[in-house]
Amino acid sequence: MLIDAEILLNYQRCNRRAFLDLYGDRAERDPPNDYLLKLIQDSQENQRLFLANQTFHHPQYPSGDWQAAASSTLGLMRQGVERISQGVVITTVEGVTLLSKPDLLVKQPGQSLFGDWLYQPVEIKLGKRPKLEYQILLTFHVQVLAQVQGAWPETSSLILRERGEYEIDLWEMLPRLQEILDACIQTLSRPQEPEVFISRNRCSLCHWFSHCYAIAKSDHHLSLLPGVTPARYVQLQERQLTSVKSLADANPTYLEPLPGFGPDAAHKLVRQARSVLQNRAFLIDSNRELNLTHWSTHRYTAAGFSANELPTAPVELYFDIEAEPSLKLVYLHGVLVVDHTSKTEVFHSFVAKCPEEESLVWQQFLELVWTYPTAPIFHFCPFEVQTVERLGKLYGTPSSRIQPLLTRFVDLHERVTRSVTLPVESYALKPIARWLGFNWRDSTANGAQSIYWYSQWLATGDLTYLDSILIYNEDDCRATHHVKTWLVSFLQAAYQPALA
Ligand code: SF4
Repeated sequence: MLIDAEILLNYQRCNRRAFLDLYGDRAERDPPNDYLLKLIQDSQENQRLFLANQTFHHPQYPSGDWQAAASSTLGLMRQGVERISQGVVITTVEGVTLLSKPDLLVKQPGQSLFGDWLYQPVEIKLGKRPKLEYQILLTFHVQVLAQVQGAWPETSSLILRERGEYEIDLWEMLPRLQEILDACIQTLSRPQEPEVFISRNRCSLCHWFSHCYAIAKSDHHLSLLPGVTPARYVQLQERQLTSVKSLADANPTYLEPLPGFGPDAAHKLVRQARSVLQNRAFLIDSNRELNLTHWSTHRYTAAGFSANELPTAPVELYFDIEAEPSLKLVYLHGVLVVDHTSKTEVFHSFVAKCPEEESLVWQQFLELVWTYPTAPIFHFCPFEVQTVERLGKLYGTPSSRIQPLLTRFVDLHERVTRSVTLPVESYALKPIARWLGFNWRDSTANGAQSIYWYSQWLATGDLTYLDSILIYNEDDCRATHHVKTWLVSFLQAAYQPALA
């Protein structure tokens, strides 16, 4: 068995992924999506920039011949060259071959099999934080290198794009690496593949996603039920609650005392299973009902809306931002203005055609939203509010322009999750709006794709990329409007018996 840093990294993210990478049918992998390719390119560019002013040696070897690569790298280390880029170091421990390819090997003073010098590995990462998985990876390189050179480097560093050099604590990381490595070898030594478990965060960028999702779908796997975490799934499995039906039939009080549950989660999970089983929306708790304020009964002022309100106003704004987190750049503010009096819907988009225009489009956005000084601003999740606060600080916008604005924001995700349970796999905008019958014009578009389109627009100046972003953003605003309209009518119908 051969374990390299990539398998170890993927094992830390998902044991099934490491298994499939080693033994799975490559034809069943998804082709890399545009966003993933962009990340790979960005990472390579980051390495290129870091190495641009340094001199280093490359081992010479035929492509894919790791033994030749390791032998060439060993030759360079014996010569005592200062830096080796893309070196390959191999060792075998108890029948398992460990293959390490650190971004850089840097010569240090010290005693090793080579003489009075040794090497330490360096990893160059695009990320901002020294993630644990990166530290484990670097420790893996250290361990393999120590076997080959007969000496442990005292330190080893990650080079992070924004933070610069980060020295890891080797003595803290070594036992953790050993634990992960042992578990990884055990998993990969067993004949059966680890069970599928769909978790949106980690699966969304995995090349086995379509393969795993199809299995989860056909098995009606509980991981597709919002609220079933890996830890809770273990508890449910131990009690033979492994189907949506069994969970829907369960008494929540039976689940309450289980580790990781409690009264709230137990009731929520059973209700979620019932909603999926019956394919219908459930009202959550009439004691905490939202106040459906309507302009005919509510005098709209600039005072804004309380957290218990779901307002309907003469003019409503539906707001969605497109941003590139790695550049901390907001490149689009999209606002759908819905005027119930004139029965019109007009979409406004403020696009930064280059990063320097962020401030300009911020001002244009402010002008539009202040044209309707009492209109509620609906958005989905807290990102829009956080961004408005951040941009206000960044561009020194007077607080008299920001604070009243913030009170007009209504987070529809919060209102939905507080008031209804829906038969969806996740409470993101897309699954909810789709269940309600809304369709995006480009069914494959998503936030990551929008980031890729924007990078392509900057690189090529091709307007079709900007058009794709605008269509996607407008549809997000319209989907938010669709969800809001449905929620108001659902709650009105649900509250009716209580009002009668
Ligand atoms: S799609 Fe998810 S469950 Fe499947 S291998 Fe990838 S990360 Fe693991």
